Amino acid sequence: MKKAVALLMCAVILTGLCSCAAPQEQTTNLTAMNTLMQIRVFSSLCDETEAVTLLENEIRRLEKLFDANAPESDASRINSCETECEISRDTAEIIKISKAAFEKTDGAFDITVMPVLRLWGFDNGNYGVPKEKALESALTLVGIDRITLDGTSVKKEKGTQISFGGVAKGYLGGRLLEIAKENGICGIVSLGGNIVLCGENEKKGYWSVGVKDPDNNSEIACSFECGGNLSVVTSGAYERYFEFEGKAYHHIIDPETGKPAESDLKSVTVIGKNGALCDAYSTSLFVMGKNKAVEFIKENNDFEYVLITTDNEIICSDGVKNPTSDLKINKLSDDAV
Ligand code: ADP
Ligand code: MG
Repeated sequence: MKKAVALLMCAVILTGLCSCAAPQEQTTNLTAMNTLMQIRVFSSLCDETEAVTLLENEIRRLEKLFDANAPESDASRINSCETECEISRDTAEIIKISKAAFEKTDGAFDITVMPVLRLWGFDNGNYGVPKEKALESALTLVGIDRITLDGTSVKKEKGTQISFGGVAKGYLGGRLLEIAKENGICGIVSLGGNIVLCGENEKKGYWSVGVKDPDNNSEIACSFECGGNLSVVTSGAYERYFEFEGKAYHHIIDPETGKPAESDLKSVTVIGKNGALCDAYSTSLFVMGKNKAVEFIKENNDFEYVLITTDNEIICSDGVKNPTSDLKINKLSDDAV
C-alpha cells in the first residue's frame, strides 16, 4: 500500500481491496488535470479493458474542457473572451454548481479568484508574492456575480477570469460514478487528492479509506470505512505551495483577502454522492477554518467529513463515526496501511 501512496501522491488512500478483485483486474496510470491519476477496474459488465477506456476517455474529455492552460478549453475561451461565449453542457453545469457552492459557502468558494491565482503563479507554477496594490486591483475583478449563465451561454464582465481548479476533479469524479453505474463497473479511481469508489465492495460490504497525514505524505492520519458509489475529496495546504523568505504560501485562496487562507485546518476531507459539491466544499471548508466549517456542517448535512486541525485534532461527522451508518471511522485502524 505504501508503494501505491508514493506513486499516486493522493491525499486519500484506499486501504482495502474490492472483493471483486479478480485476476482480470485492469489498472492504468495517467497524468491529467496536472495530476497523477490511477484507474483500477476489478470487474465490469463490459470487458475490463473496455471499462478502463471508458473511464479514461471521460477524464480526457473533461480535461479538454476545464483546463484553463489549454488554449481551446472552455475555461480558456471564457477567460479570453471579451464579454460572451458559448460553452459545453458540462461547463455550464460546473459553473452552475460553482455558483451554488458560492451561495452556500458565503463566498468562501469562488471560481472567479483566477486573477488572484495568476498573481501568485498558482495557475502556471511561476510562483511569487504579489504586491499589495496588485492584489487590491486583482480583487476588484473577483466576484461570482460578474459571470452569468443562460443555458450554455456565458456572459461576463470585462476582466473576469475563472479557475475550475477547486471543483473540476470533483465534477469529473461524479461523471465517472455515472459511467461506472451505467456499465456495472466495480473499481477505484484516484484523481490525486480525490478517490472515486465505483460500485459496492460486495465481500467486505464497505471500502476502507485512509486520510493522509498532512505532515507526512506516506502515513495516514485516520481511516474510515464507507459504502460505494461515493466521492472522497481532500483539500489541504500541504498539497501545493511554494516558499519565499522562509514562509510557505499555499494554493487555497481566501477570496476576501486574495491571499492563501490562514486556516487552522490542515486538511479537509468531504465524502458524498455529488463529487463536484464535495470538491467545492473541501476547498471552502478549508478557507473557513475550524469554527466556521463546523457551523457550516451543522446547517448542511448532505455529506460526511473529516477535518484535521493544526492542533492535530480529528473532527469527523456522525456518519463517519457511527458504525451502523453508510460510513464509519476507526482512528488508526489496523488495516489502514
Ligand atoms: P486540489 O486542486 O489540490 O485538489 P482543491 O480542490 O482544494 O485542491 O482546489 C484548489 C484549487 O482551487 C487551487 O489550486 C485553485 O485553482 C482553486 N482555488 C483556490 N482557492 C479557491 C477558492 N477560494 N474558491 C474556488 N477555487 C479556489
Ligand atoms: Mg476542491
